[in-house]
Amino acid sequence: MIRTVEEKDVRFVRLWFCDVIGTLKSVAISPADLESAFEEGIGIDGSAIEGLTREFESDILLRPDPATFQLLPWRGEVAGTARMMCDVLTPDGQPAASDPRRVLKDAIARAEAKGLEFFTHPEIEFYLFEEPYREGVPLRPTDTSGYFDHVPRASGQDFRRTVIQHLEAMNIQVEYSHHENGPGQNEIDLRYADALTTADNILTFRTVVKEVALSMGTVATFMPKPMIESPGSGMHTHLSLFQNGKNAFHEPGAEYGLSRTARRFIAGLLRHAPEYCALTSQFVNSYKRLWGAQEAPSYVCWGHNNRSALVRVPFHKPTKGTSSRVEFRGADSAANPYLAFAALLAAGMAGIEGEYELPEGAEDTVWQLTDKERRALDYEPLPTDLFRALESFESSELMASTLGEQVFEYFLRNKRAEWNRYREQVTAVELDSSFFRI
Ligand code: GLU
Ligand code: MG
Ligand code: MG
Repeated sequence: MIRTVEEKDVRFVRLWFCDVIGTLKSVAISPADLESAFEEGIGIDGSAIEGLTREFESDILLRPDPATFQLLPWRGEVAGTARMMCDVLTPDGQPAASDPRRVLKDAIARAEAKGLEFFTHPEIEFYLFEEPYREGVPLRPTDTSGYFDHVPRASGQDFRRTVIQHLEAMNIQVEYSHHENGPGQNEIDLRYADALTTADNILTFRTVVKEVALSMGTVATFMPKPMIESPGSGMHTHLSLFQNGKNAFHEPGAEYGLSRTARRFIAGLLRHAPEYCALTSQFVNSYKRLWGAQEAPSYVCWGHNNRSALVRVPFHKPTKGTSSRVEFRGADSAANPYLAFAALLAAGMAGIEGEYELPEGAEDTVWQLTDKERRALDYEPLPTDLFRALESFESSELMASTLGEQVFEYFLRNKRAEWNRYREQVTAVELDSSFFRI
């Protein structure tokens, strides 16, 4: 790494970390400070960063993870710039309880103590608009195409190609990319990797997408549901566990090739869904996606190759045992990936450890059933808004122990404030429906 810094004439090393909400934060240091960054960490004032310090604290230390050193390809022309993901430490050098990366590392360590390694593979959807959002001005998507369309203006393809080149230059492998259903909506799927690497990669991915959009004179957003009439942006995530290098979700000859471990893991995802929903769908706006009737899951159930279920078991190729996995379709593209993955892993592990029974899989298109039919089948609704999601989150011991007290409390406080601000609004819908009515 030090040799690369010299050879590429790197002048800036950006230290990346994120707040509790998942916003990327960055501090640049010069290569001369690298040694002390590794040894003692770089001290910064953390008091302005969402959730990272409590009122009576302010200083934090950033310690870069050398395995994440990468040159930033879009800044390469002038002086070289590199980045490393960091762990956040308290001034006495202990892992900070408030660091989302620490939360995921702890969840991973708990699974590893049981011999299980957690892998994830996200499908990240997002929108491209002609200009930034301004109040009162309708959003203008960059094209009018739809699912898998080959966009004639080629802007979508050029855009995706540039993003993928940058990601690959940073050693982030991409599996698929295509136009999504909404106008200006794209999807890029990252290749599966261990969950910590994936979460680091998602933060980098969002930055690369935004940089490339800006360089093309457009704007990218990962907001869950920017437009009423178009689908939201989901971050479907494929999950699997490995034990001694073998896929622990796979059992040859079993139904859909699913092992008992996989069935219990899915059962855990289902039972705890209301509790972690505030993390996988963390904004008021997230619930407009979940309940927007545009291919996002609204009910808690699983199904074999069922795209209307919260958990989909993808089509099973009997010969390919290593790729056994489940697709969690609940998360959106604006989740904090560290906290969302930690919560999903904890829910699945609770299913394994508690030997939860997996209910029957859903065969119908769950959106098309009547409420009565869904009740008969026991498909519970996901929380219908952030307020309800926070109620379930707050009463969850599993979430409190997975996040640790500090993140748990901060998240609740921050999200309650978001809800209250939303509730105070008097919207056009209300004026329309009741101004002249009575
Ligand atoms: N955009 C949809 C969602 O909000 C998913 C579409 C798809 O199946 O890829 O989850
Ligand atoms: Mg998609
Ligand atoms: Mg999908």
